[in-house]
Amino acid sequence: MVNKKEIPSILAGKGIPNYQEIKPDDINNYIPILIKELNRDLTSLEKELEEKINQNLVISWDDVMTPIHIIGERLRWSWGVVSHLNAVCNSSELRDSYSKQQPEIIRFGNRFGQSEVIYNSLVNLCNNSKNLNKTQIRILTKELLTMKNSGVGLNSSKKDIFNSSSQKLAELSNNFSNNVLDATKNWSLLLTKPEEIEGLPIRILENYARSAKDAGEKGLNGESTGPTPEKGPWLISLDTPSYIPFITYSKNRQLREIIYKAYVSRASDGLLDNKKIIEEILCLRTKQAKILGYKNWTDLSLESKMAKDTKEVEQLLEELRAAAMVVAKNELRELKECALRNGASKEAENIAPWDISYLSEKLRQEKYDLDKEALRPWFPLPQVLNGLFKLCEKLFNIKVVASKKLDIPKWHNDVTLFDVFDQDGTEIASFYLDPYSRSATKRGGAWMDECLIRNKDSKGNLTLPIAYLICNQTPPTEGKPSLMSFEEVETLFHEFGHGLQHMLTKVNYPQAAGINNVEWDAVELPSQFMENWCLDRSTIMGMAKHWQTGEELPEEEFNKLRSSRTFNSGMATLRQIHFALTDLKLHGEWNEDLGISPDQLRRKIAESSTVLPPIKEDQFLCSFSHIFAGGYSAGYYSYKWAEVLSADAFSAFEEIGLEKTELVKETGKRFRDTVLSMGGSRPPQEIFKAFRGRPPSSKALIKHSGLEF
Ligand code: ZN
Repeated sequence: MVNKKEIPSILAGKGIPNYQEIKPDDINNYIPILIKELNRDLTSLEKELEEKINQNLVISWDDVMTPIHIIGERLRWSWGVVSHLNAVCNSSELRDSYSKQQPEIIRFGNRFGQSEVIYNSLVNLCNNSKNLNKTQIRILTKELLTMKNSGVGLNSSKKDIFNSSSQKLAELSNNFSNNVLDATKNWSLLLTKPEEIEGLPIRILENYARSAKDAGEKGLNGESTGPTPEKGPWLISLDTPSYIPFITYSKNRQLREIIYKAYVSRASDGLLDNKKIIEEILCLRTKQAKILGYKNWTDLSLESKMAKDTKEVEQLLEELRAAAMVVAKNELRELKECALRNGASKEAENIAPWDISYLSEKLRQEKYDLDKEALRPWFPLPQVLNGLFKLCEKLFNIKVVASKKLDIPKWHNDVTLFDVFDQDGTEIASFYLDPYSRSATKRGGAWMDECLIRNKDSKGNLTLPIAYLICNQTPPTEGKPSLMSFEEVETLFHEFGHGLQHMLTKVNYPQAAGINNVEWDAVELPSQFMENWCLDRSTIMGMAKHWQTGEELPEEEFNKLRSSRTFNSGMATLRQIHFALTDLKLHGEWNEDLGISPDQLRRKIAESSTVLPPIKEDQFLCSFSHIFAGGYSAGYYSYKWAEVLSADAFSAFEEIGLEKTELVKETGKRFRDTVLSMGGSRPPQEIFKAFRGRPPSSKALIKHSGLEF
């Protein structure tokens, strides 16, 4: 008998991962053992099922769906831990082990997805589906489609080609993502002269001086204190919390140009060049789609989405593009006028992309007298969390508290675990929050991921969901909490929205619990819905308290924030449309024989979807991780698609009046009971209708974005 203690933490396969005990070495030592065991389990399951099929027996849910879930979950659990660490505690050791084991993981995935016995068993189950409920049927239908798109129906020579391209694709995505991380990490700029920091607020200079100190820089002229915010030197990097403030506040146009060009050309030359990788990825995806009988990767991607086809997606994008273009042109004109008023004649004459954020900030201050940077002291992370949790208590009747389980292992000191309770005190879920940016070891951006998924097994044992919420916001400094920008507050609310769908699910089948089985283009509904609350009076006034004085956010500042809500939204909308169209066309139309590069195709699309065409150095595609290293390929449009749903859902609250607490509570309960609870157990159209009483309409989004005339 195997002593329980002998099972290494990385193979636990259930429960909370023991992050303290999992080491990079374990990946190479134990993942191969896991794969061997899973292969053995799969073989014996196939044997059992084959016998049943040969004897013409009816196959039940528990004969096939339960065991394949158990096999899949063991893999998801262990490899999930590895992928998570690779994203938040990246190191060369971890990277090596990750890429060494990845091919085996893919190979197993291919074997599983292409198992004819499993497929036939699912078909058998499907043909005898009278005992299955609606959720089970939806899970089953999706599983059959997934297997079809994993190549189960291919003959063996086609399977070989398909599988080797799957391997190659995983490797390429991994390289793509590492190149972006390295290119971001490798670039920095040390500033030493006062004229180089003109316009930058002191809080930002503090961060730059601290970065210089961390990099081992000495104080200027032998100053014994080391780098200081007032005297420098200051170190700028391409990490979002460093890059964004510089491009927004620096008066030094030349430096803005330098740092802008460095940012948009990340991973586009030398050893870290992603251009070739992009072409290879696109070619391989097209090849796979064709082998499976689709015209292109876009068609393959859309088959499992809420949108019916490319036409329907293009129609929505065009509707938004046309509305946004007119507004964006006006916005650009206003920026030029603002430059003129401020004596920035060069910017006015020849406005460049590195002027946009800077001039926008100037214009925002002129128009609304709103200095966003000055609002940070009102948004210390603990207060913001408090406000977010109170909102969720009001809307969804839940309580969120820092976990009392103090011995929970974490992967970093920045991390906190929170528990979520229902109104009667029952614990329903937990989540880890890892809020701050750690440039060298943590991937950029923000995301929610699943640690544990809700599951009620056949014996009635319940697993409660646990989420990972990862942000990259401004870190705290000595004696100062993380003072968040308004955008960082929105990001936190966004990720928490994903977390809510994961945590408040009532679905007991893990295959459709939380975000599982939710069509990709509907998955941003709860997240974008939550963002809307950042401008709700009682939410914001409840959380915005000065971190030192406790003073509430002045009424005036709140009004400015609100009235500036749609500021520059024409350009912001256009930017998303440009990315969405580029993604759609790269995966639907681009191929090597087209005679133009992916970048050239992007530039063609830019002609009608930007007001300021991309400059020569702009190699945005080389860092477009969403579609080349994440799951958004031919699915970037999902943000806009789901925004139609989220804006329309939020308008249900606006219609009754956000200040009417009782009605808001009632509507919040309905949102929880439908969108948040039902997850992937029903089609998104049906769930939306259950909440809103009618199908979604794009009216609310157009109105919200200020694109109406
Ligand atoms: Zn999201």
